[in-house]
Amino acid sequence: MGDGDPRQATRSERLRLAIERDGARCVWCGRPFARLVQPTRDHLVPRAKGGPSWLENEVPACRRCNAERGHRGVVEWLEECVRRGWEPDEDAVSRSLDALDAAIAGRGGQRRARTYVAAQRRRLQRRRADGQAPAG
Ligand SMILES: [Zn+2]
Repeated sequence: MGDGDPRQATRSERLRLAIERDGARCVWCGRPFARLVQPTRDHLVPRAKGGPSWLENEVPACRRCNAERGHRGVVEWLEECVRRGWEPDEDAVSRSLDALDAAIAGRGGQRRARTYVAAQRRRLQRRRADGQAPAG
């Protein structure tokens, strides 16, 4: 499998690369991965919403957060994490959304994912501009 092309990496390789990129903890709740906190690949754009299985669309998340988020939007779930008193890695999420946007632009296609990413990036930018004002 080509090291230079993340699209060609297997799932376990992509998980390893995502952890290398974002750190060995859940991007949502911040818990370090351990025997009882198993790492998974969480799709920023859910697969049900047309999200590709690319490294750019995957962030390391614990099994609990991955399951609990379900198909919720990136920013909606981010705000839910904050409400729960967790410290989500907003920078990592933002970086991945930017990288995904660039990857889609470069590779073409992914029309549904493109729209989703654009909307989430706008929301995230607005949220950051507002100085993390409480949601709602
Ligand atoms: Zn978590």
